[in-house]
Amino acid sequence: MKKNCVLCLFFSLSLLGCHAQKNTSKTGTGSKASDSVQTEVVKAQKSAPVEVNPEIEKLAKVISSMSDRCKAEMKNGSLEELLADLHKVLAVEASFPQDDLSLYYLIDKKHPVDESYVPAHLVKLQSNNFYVVNKKDIYLREDAEAALREMAGNAKTDGVTLDVSSTYRSYAYQKNLFDYWVKVDGLEEAERESARPGTSQHQLGVAIDFGSIDDDYDTTPGGKWMYKHASEYGWSLSFPKGYEDVTGYRWECWHFRYIGVEACRFQEKWFNNVQQYMLEFIDAWKKMQ
Ligand SMILES: [Zn+2]
Repeated sequence: MKKNCVLCLFFSLSLLGCHAQKNTSKTGTGSKASDSVQTEVVKAQKSAPVEVNPEIEKLAKVISSMSDRCKAEMKNGSLEELLADLHKVLAVEASFPQDDLSLYYLIDKKHPVDESYVPAHLVKLQSNNFYVVNKKDIYLREDAEAALREMAGNAKTDGVTLDVSSTYRSYAYQKNLFDYWVKVDGLEEAERESARPGTSQHQLGVAIDFGSIDDDYDTTPGGKWMYKHASEYGWSLSFPKGYEDVTGYRWECWHFRYIGVEACRFQEKWFNNVQQYMLEFIDAWKKMQ
């Protein structure tokens, strides 16, 4: 059975448009990009258009709308497989609370939430048998707290205690925090580490800063455990090393966002384990007509 693949389809689209590549792609992990393009052009010239799954066409458009860096880093597997995996992730989304923003909600410097947004189901965190809380009066979304509890319980079994230092932040709190860092470091440096109000994952109630909230967290038992196991419990590192141009923030080894296990798998398999790529992709899929 002939299949479309991500790289072939991307090049086909850019050179030929959607219709020309129908039924002409090949299963292509590892095929050279230049070979793919030439093969696609020749085949497309010879073959008449045939029916194609409209969702595959939509997928191709979404991929072509992604940044060049994202496209270069995406796994070059079959589009049918990518589509099936996407549907698995979206099926899980149906089980999220429907009276709140999705756990996949894209929030970043270009996609703010309203000043008035507060998560619908916040629960207060207190130190317990599973994790330690370093601060008073901190809150998370209920589903994120449950996932934290499960994760921390398993860390504990491995002899590691996870300590939580910062969680939900209101718009007003984030504004004060950002203003503070601007005063301390200046605007340019503050922008690299602190979010402007309305643009922080912390306002969604799904992000946690662990431990010392500095680069040293990477070397602690908690930090090491998180890098190895966090995704097994649906937690994803939001701002990885070397992706400041993608995420807008420098490496933050202490900041994790809860997106669910299925989305973590999707991110690892298709998006080079970059959360920003995956969330942008899902956002583009939802908005694409
Ligand atoms: Zn953070």
